[in-house]
Amino acid sequence: MGAVTTAADHPAAPAALTGRAAALEAADALGDLRARFDLPGDGSVYLVGNSLGALPRAVAPAVADAVQRQWGRARVGGWNTEGWWTAPQRVGDRVGALLGAAPGQVVVGDCTSVQLHKVHLAAAAETRRRSGGDGRGGRRRVVVADPGSFPTDLFVLHSDARLAGLEVVLASPPEVPAVLAARGDEVALVALSQVDYRTGELWDLPGLTRAAHDAGALVLWDLCHSAGVVPADLDEHDVDYAVGCSYKFLNGGPGAPAWVYVPRRLQAGFANPVPGWNSAAQPFAMTAEYTPASDIAVARTGTPQMISLLALEAALSAYDGVDVDAVRARSLSLTGLALEALDALVPEVEVVTPREPDRRGSALALRHPQAWGVVRALHARGVEGDFRAPDVVRWGVAPLYLSHADVLAAVVALRAVLDGGEHLAAEAAERPTVT
Ligand SMILES: *Cc1c(COP(=O)(O)O)cnc(C)c1O
Repeated sequence: MGAVTTAADHPAAPAALTGRAAALEAADALGDLRARFDLPGDGSVYLVGNSLGALPRAVAPAVADAVQRQWGRARVGGWNTEGWWTAPQRVGDRVGALLGAAPGQVVVGDCTSVQLHKVHLAAAAETRRRSGGDGRGGRRRVVVADPGSFPTDLFVLHSDARLAGLEVVLASPPEVPAVLAARGDEVALVALSQVDYRTGELWDLPGLTRAAHDAGALVLWDLCHSAGVVPADLDEHDVDYAVGCSYKFLNGGPGAPAWVYVPRRLQAGFANPVPGWNSAAQPFAMTAEYTPASDIAVARTGTPQMISLLALEAALSAYDGVDVDAVRARSLSLTGLALEALDALVPEVEVVTPREPDRRGSALALRHPQAWGVVRALHARGVEGDFRAPDVVRWGVAPLYLSHADVLAAVVALRAVLDGGEHLAAEAAERPTVT
């Protein structure tokens, strides 16, 4: 594509909307924290923070230090002197603070897919234990999951169900209470995402957690699309397990390690199905016999990805002094303005995301028959979004580094793309491996 446009190139918005954006920006309590990020400074509007968050300024010096001083000078001693060994828990506590989890219950490592695998099988074992140790989990063999889940969540779940002899029942979150009413005494685990990755819909984490518990089932929440932008209050809601990645709204960088939440009450019995040496009670005893750790380290596996982990730790400093409730308020203000502008300027485009504030996460999904062409044409105008097959344009709204003026500029650019038929020509653009 050609050179990215500058902010000055974005077409002008109607004065009423420009004024509205300025008023909302002035009224927002969090403020624009983009100074904490190393953005290209070319006026582009980055609406893909729900896929790969922007680069926090603290990361580059931290990675340079990790490589040059820590690895280069401390060498193997870094495991002790640089706190590498305990970093998965230390960084886990920092993530946990954004999730409403008290320290000692989140550990960072692996990728989300692997963390899902650990939790599915640990939950199956916990269910068997609760049912009196008959080894079969009584009648509780069912895992309820959303058919609209991110594919990896379903791929791993189906594989784990085969391994553990579980039955997967697919039900979208609004249907879950009915499944629990009909078959609640068969359900071992309810596994859902807090925010739908495709539509941006926010599900009722407290209510669905309560419903699962009332039926005697455990609950697992995937927070990939909500961590850092929607409060989860995991401790308060008595959530059993949660997982998430850290490269989306947590800005940890490409391939940043994922995390898992296991509350204290479930740590002693957590049957990690990949019980690598890092999860042992005494990893350096080098015994052939496995004794699991009795704290959150039980969810660790092997040697942590230290450079990525230290990059994530630095990235999380973008959240220093930031309250997730304030991030949530700014997020709703930004997506709310985008909805107002879409209604006013591009009423012909269907917004898939629910309009009610308590039903939307921090992304908007727009349906268009040439969604791919729309994404490419917007890219040429310096507005970055992503395409989700078959017909969705997805805009992630990262409240730390986007302003009300940015989201308004994106909608105005969309109007210009459609007016100029730019999406029709762009629809033919080759699709790269990663969309
Ligand atoms: C992004 C995302 C993942 C990513 O899984 P990885 O194994 O970390 O690549 C998983 N689940 C959901 C819901 C996601 O949005």
